[in-house]
Amino acid sequence: MKKWMLYVGLGLFLAIPVYFWLPAFLATDSPTDYPCVIGRLLALAGFILILFQVLLSSRLKWLERNLGLDKMLATHKTAGIFGFGFMLAHPVLHFSSDLLSLGTVILKWPMIFGLVTILIVIVTVGSALLYGRLHLKYGMWKQLHWVNFIILPIIFVHSLLLGTEMASQPALVSFWYFLGALYLVLVAFILWDRIQVRRHPLQVTDVVQETRDTWSVHFKGQKPDHKPGQFMMLSMLRDGHMVEPHPFTISSSPTSDDLSVSVKAIGDFTSTIKDTNPADQVYIGAPYGTFSFLNYDAPNLVFIAGGIGITPFMSMLRYMRDRMLERNVLLIWGNKTEQDIAFKDELEKMAAARPSLRVVHVLSNQPDWPGEKGYVDLELLRKYLDGFENPQFFVCGPPVMMTKVIRALRQAGVPKMRIHYERFALR
Ligand SMILES: Cc1cc2nc3c(=O)[nH]c(=O)nc-3n(C[C@H](O)[C@H](O)[C@H](O)COP(=O)(O)OP(=O)(O)OC[C@H]3O[C@@H](n4cnc5c(N)ncnc54)[C@H](O)[C@@H]3O)c2cc1C
Repeated sequence: MKKWMLYVGLGLFLAIPVYFWLPAFLATDSPTDYPCVIGRLLALAGFILILFQVLLSSRLKWLERNLGLDKMLATHKTAGIFGFGFMLAHPVLHFSSDLLSLGTVILKWPMIFGLVTILIVIVTVGSALLYGRLHLKYGMWKQLHWVNFIILPIIFVHSLLLGTEMASQPALVSFWYFLGALYLVLVAFILWDRIQVRRHPLQVTDVVQETRDTWSVHFKGQKPDHKPGQFMMLSMLRDGHMVEPHPFTISSSPTSDDLSVSVKAIGDFTSTIKDTNPADQVYIGAPYGTFSFLNYDAPNLVFIAGGIGITPFMSMLRYMRDRMLERNVLLIWGNKTEQDIAFKDELEKMAAARPSLRVVHVLSNQPDWPGEKGYVDLELLRKYLDGFENPQFFVCGPPVMMTKVIRALRQAGVPKMRIHYERFALR
């Protein structure tokens, strides 16, 4: 599915409640009723946006194939901000009308559903928005986020019991039941998808230290059919219990029998990756992502990596080597020191065997490095891009580096549609 189709679909779904709501809006003659009537539209639209959010977080393969999971989750976040914002505005506007017209607020018992929703929204959306400031652990945030799944059923009941438009328009009620059924199908799919993952465990075959803080873990078992550059959700069994899934790019090539990820130790889980034992069992959900040169028909490619952001490029370069694909590739890779460069020998061999591959190492923390020093910036890009005609750019690395590189590329006049990037964050 293409992005525009998704938005057209959302627009159509949103147009349906507007159609049912419009007559009531046009018939409103008292100014004090307007807040309530507008609040009712926001509640209807909020319901649909939250359903859309569930769809975007469902990891449906046919959706993900073109959009990419990271972009789907970014849209999920935006839809959530609007959806939950509308939900919160609904009671405020409703009670404002009561106060303006009657001087008091009328409470009915089914409003309890609305109140429960608001409390849940404050906790779950608040924790999502303030994730960084609250220094929440990802696992804790994720568990809080799961609570969102009970919101839609609650507001479904609330709207059927109290909704003014529902009371007078049976066709809207039927549409609402359809949306409710869609929600149940999505939840069933999400559960089925998680169960499927557990049906085919893989086994760790080897754990190889690449640098002081990066390890490659190799697996055997049913290999996913993936493109070079895509990622997987990896769950490991530790002390008999399953660790929550973490996303890692598949650093091996689809052409090889090997399946591997290369992991930099940066936090709670990744710091334990070195303790993985051969024969340990893992579960994977794959493939995800659209970050692959195979999605673009271009002879010239520029790969810009920062630190562990090299993993999708390793997969792509290994694929090109194995398939003997002739593409002009410039790989610019930023690291702190020479010691941090993983796969150095392998890259050197690849470059020696293929004159169409050029590797430029840029080190930020090694004054005696004979090559490029500092960071990947506009000046450096201009120096190496000379002669490269209309390349497709692929950028992957730490957030700050990505922002700077993408800005520099834009300053150099590269159109947005030729810049592709993978954020190593799904939030
Ligand atoms: C598409 C993608 C591909 C990636 N590929 C690689 C790779 O090839 N090699 C590599 O070393 N790293 C990769 N990462 C990053 C890797 O997923 C995180 O470093 C890892 O999940 C951090 O977990 P932690 O418990 O060690 O760190 P923590 O300190 O607990 O978390 C650090 C940050 O990592 C993210 N994170 C933590 N747990 C999860 C989780 N279960 N699911 C999603 N995000 C989480 C959160 O943003 C969190 O703020 C990739 C990330 C994404 C999104």
